[in-house]
Order: sequence, then C-alpha cells, then structure tokens
Amino acid sequence: MGLIVKKFGGSSVGSVEKIMAVAKRIIDEKQPGDKIVMVVSAMGDTTDDLIALAKGINKEPYQYTREMDMLLTTGEQISISLLTMAFKTLGQPAVSLTGPLAGMKTNSVHTKGKLVDIKPVRVLAELDKGNIVVVAGFQGCNEIGDPVTLGRGGSDTSAVALAGALKADSCEIFTDVDGVYSADPRMVKDARKMKEITYNEMLEMARLGAGVMQPRSVEMGKYFNIPIHVRSTFTTKPGSFIREEYTMEDKEFTIRGVAHDNDVAKIAVLGVPNNPGIAHSIFSALADANVDVDMIVQSIRNIEKNVTDMVFTVAITDLPEAKKIVDRVADELNAIAVLIEEDVAKVSIVGAGMLGSPGIAARMFGALSTASVNIEVISTSEISISCLIKNAKLKEAVNAIHAEFFPAK
Ligand code: ADP
Ligand code: ASP
Ligand code: MG
Repeated sequence: MGLIVKKFGGSSVGSVEKIMAVAKRIIDEKQPGDKIVMVVSAMGDTTDDLIALAKGINKEPYQYTREMDMLLTTGEQISISLLTMAFKTLGQPAVSLTGPLAGMKTNSVHTKGKLVDIKPVRVLAELDKGNIVVVAGFQGCNEIGDPVTLGRGGSDTSAVALAGALKADSCEIFTDVDGVYSADPRMVKDARKMKEITYNEMLEMARLGAGVMQPRSVEMGKYFNIPIHVRSTFTTKPGSFIREEYTMEDKEFTIRGVAHDNDVAKIAVLGVPNNPGIAHSIFSALADANVDVDMIVQSIRNIEKNVTDMVFTVAITDLPEAKKIVDRVADELNAIAVLIEEDVAKVSIVGAGMLGSPGIAARMFGALSTASVNIEVISTSEISISCLIKNAKLKEAVNAIHAEFFPAK
C-alpha cells in the first residue's frame, strides 16, 4: 500500500489501444489501498504535429511563445481525458486534472517554463475519494493563470516534481525502453542496461542529450531525494533506478555512458576585439532571451590586431532567436563575421569515475581518431567530456567511443 506516481510517455499512450492497455495494467497491478497518480504525455507525435500546424501559420511560431503554450497544452489534455475514460470504462473511478488543476505553478517563461511551486490540494482530495488521478504532464500555469509548458520532455519533470510534492513512496517513469542504457539503444546495438545510475551522472547524461529523461526531472529527483524507476510500458521486468548512490551494482566501468545530441548548432563570432566585457555583451544578450549556450571557446585570431573568435553551441530550436541576437551584437562589436553551422552534433562520455582517472580523454579522442572523426570543439565538466563533430559522423563516433569503453565481453 502506498502513494505511487506513474508517468507514461507519448509512445506508451500513442493509440486508443495503448491507452486501454495502460489502464488495464494499472488496474491489474493496483494493490488494495494503493493511491495512484498518473502523469501522461501527449499521444505519440501529437506535440510535433501541433508544432507543424503552427509552422503552417508562421515559419517561426516560437516568437509567439504564449500562443505556442496555449496550443501545446492541448496535446496532454487529449490523453488525460481518454485515459480517464478508459479507467471508468473498466469500472475504476478516476478523474483527469490539467497541470493547473493539479496545482503545478510555473514561472512565466513560455515554452521553457520552470515549476516554482506545487500545491497538489485537488490531487490529494481526489485520491481520498478513491479516484486514480490522471494529471497532464508538461504543463502548469503562471501567476496570472496563463498556460506554460516545461520544455520538450517536460512530463518527466511534472511526474518527479509531483511525486516529490506528494511525498510519494515511489516514482515510476514508463517508456518505450526498459531502462537507462550505456548509450541510446536506438544508436548502439550493444548498449548495456544499467541497474542503477546516480542523479549526478543521469543529470549529465540527460543534459548532454540522453532524451530518456528531461534534465530538470533528474534535478527534481535529487532535490526531493526520490528514487526514479525508469522501466518499460510493454514488459513488467525491473528497469533502472536513478538515485543518490549505488546500492547494488559494482561500479565496473569508469565511464557510465555515452550521450549524443544532434539538435545543436555552432555559432562562431569571428574577429571581435580582445577586450574586457566582450563575452559579457554576447552572452548576457542571449541569457536575457533565455537562450542557453554551451561549449564556449574563445581563441586568438590575430595577436597583432588583438582580435579573437568566440565559438559556442546552442540548441537548434533556439537558433533563429540566437542568430538575430548574435547578428545584432556582432554588428555593435564590429566583428568580422558570424558563421552558423547546423550540420554538427555533440558526443559525450559521462562518469563520476573519470575524476582522477587520467587518460580517459585520450582514449575518447583515440577512438574518434581511429574512426576518422574530426573534432571541432572540446568541452569538459568534472564528470563529462564532450566533442563537437560533423552530424554525418555521429553514429560512427558514438559506436566507436562506446566500443572503447564498453568492450564486448
Ligand atoms: P517518452 O515518450 O516515454 O517520454 P522518449 O522518447 O522521450 O520517451 O525517451 C525514450 C527514448 O530515449 C528511447 O526510445 C531512447 O531512444 C532514448 N534514449 C536516449 N538515450 C538513452 C539512454 N541512454 N538509455 C535509454 N534510452 C535512451
Ligand atoms: N509532449 C511533450 C513533448 O513531446 C512532453 C513530453 O512528452 O514529455 O515534449
Ligand atoms: Mg520523454
């Protein structure tokens, strides 16, 4: 008996048959006295389809961020109502709640919102009435009640945050893979399933592109210290646990995983004066527009003329906005040129064990060199090393690095 939050992603509720199957499974597995909160995503590719609709009106619909949120929140509303009808059809009392009705309060950064407060009063009241409560993931509302979405993959964050706020006994993320793997199993055939991974390592994997969990959701798990069980919608076998420390698995590998991200673009601002305040003027303008930057490198272009090049990456979805801002600032700074490359991708290795293990970077670069992959930019954190490469070489690169650190047994 316990309070359990179970999140089902888009592919898990991609058709009415799948929705019915989810409802059946939940009822079958429900123990007497269990209180169950479901968090669901939009069906299948609904979110992408809604974005495509908006692009039919305007090629850059994200300039109308409030309206994008008004549109995108409808996706999750379809699935909560259908899943609730499925429960009722099977004789199980249930009720659907939008994010705002479930007490999910956000800031006002439309399409990239952050949860600032959760008051799940209605959720608790409905659980007390004996209902399974079906909550729309990915959404909340700001202080004036406008809908705000939490960024792509945001239903993970809704689920973990709600589990934390409800002091749930467990939080399960049901998806189309049966756990967290050493690399995206769609990309690396021999990827290995992990029994456990720490919050810090999973956060870094997610931040660097492992789309199985939204990075904010892992931060929420760490904040509330709630273990997250990532498992399959389509089987009952145990998945992977994300938690503070390892409890059972010997740390066999220094590297926990290889992550990749091909939704990135490289921006190079060439020939800016090598003076104090230049980096600030570029990056503060981007920060003001909520554009995240990564892999920042400043290099000397011409010592005699005292000018430098500033190179960095942004998410491809932020590129139109970033380009406008960088063009304007580059103009003000008298930069020689702004170059944009979209055919790039980032490949990274992650593992707390690499701290104090010299030679890890050399092994990664060696694997890339053997696979004839050229490295354009390198960046590191305490527990990760990332290389920017050409998109066309991504699959080869990820597999070469994975084979280096996870050799076939
Ligand atoms: P959902 O719709 O359930 O939220 P997502 O597509 O967002 O599902 O996330 C699941 C996908 O994450 C998998 O199908 C897999 O391709 C991808 N993925 C990327 N990296 C990993 C990884 N290291 N381990 C497992 N899955 C990963
Ligand atoms: N439906 C949203 C998306 O596709 C949220 C989610 O699936 O987590 O990004
Ligand atoms: Mg997801």
